Amino acid sequence: MIEKRIFVAGHRGMVGGAVVRRLKGLGAQSVLTADRSTLDLCRQADVERYFAAERPEIVIFAAAKVGGIHANHTYPAQFIYDNLAMASNTIHAAYQAGVPRLLFLGSTCIYPRLAPQPIPESALLTSPLETTNEAYALAKIAGLKMCQFYRQQYGVLFHSAMPTNLYGPGDNYHPQDSHVLPALLRRFHEAKVQQLPVVTVWGSGRPRREFLHVDDLAAAILHLVQLDNPPDWVNVGTGVDIAIADLAHLVAEVVGYTGQIEFDTSKPDGTPVKRTDISLIQQTGWNPQIDFRTGLQQTYEDFLQGQVRGLEIPLSPALA
Ligand code: GDP
Repeated sequence: MIEKRIFVAGHRGMVGGAVVRRLKGLGAQSVLTADRSTLDLCRQADVERYFAAERPEIVIFAAAKVGGIHANHTYPAQFIYDNLAMASNTIHAAYQAGVPRLLFLGSTCIYPRLAPQPIPESALLTSPLETTNEAYALAKIAGLKMCQFYRQQYGVLFHSAMPTNLYGPGDNYHPQDSHVLPALLRRFHEAKVQQLPVVTVWGSGRPRREFLHVDDLAAAILHLVQLDNPPDWVNVGTGVDIAIADLAHLVAEVVGYTGQIEFDTSKPDGTPVKRTDISLIQQTGWNPQIDFRTGLQQTYEDFLQGQVRGLEIPLSPALA
């Protein structure tokens, strides 16, 4: 695999960045990446030109406009358009250029709001979606189904991976638009530094979420692109979940914040529980390796290094 020409779409994002790091660590020589200034994946003609010129042998589609519950709910038009356009242009251009293999990345928010727990791959399209991230989910479902249909009709090996909530280096620490884990790391850190007596956590604290370190996901992606007969779509997670209230206490402990925690129930909870059934990917020989507390401590250290170097914590490029 590492001797092939591999195009990582979305290399400036958290997932694409982790995949490129891992590929380079394995000694890959031909990792293709393109900045948005040279390749806008929303522009079909540009994507076709890029593929015709570069002729990658493997495409890892990690480009996405992403955000937490607030961003998804506030910008649904941008979330559906950008994600649909990027997926459709990339998948079709890859097919036209004769790319034999493509891995499409989605998210477990593609599953119904009230899916059975842990969520099996078979839960897809069995009942209504969670409304707070419906736009993003619909775009990702379309991409996953495109890969399935292109594989079925054209015989290309296009397949998908559906990671659970991610954390780790390269995350977006925007106070409103980020996901819960980076949002809380930042909020508790700032509260510690400013000696604030109370930190507010959104929602009831009761929803349960599962967290996967992005380096574990990168390993899973490179594992999946080497399988001879991968599943059309497969969950990537840890199979273990935690209540948001417990997550808040854990983050407070890692950060060293000793004040009060309160919950703002005027903010939405979103899906009540999200925990993936990972038996399918386990059967193919992959397991997560990074323990949650250790991963969280490392992530906080990365965050602090950003602060120490005086760098402003940047917005995710997807939302900037
Ligand atoms: P989701 O998994 O798609 O719902 O995405 P999020 O990571 O944005 O939210 C997960 C859960 O954490 C939801 O129940 C949120 O209400 C809750 N939450 C608590 N505090 C925060 C916060 O500061 N930011 C975000 N994004 N979510 C929070």
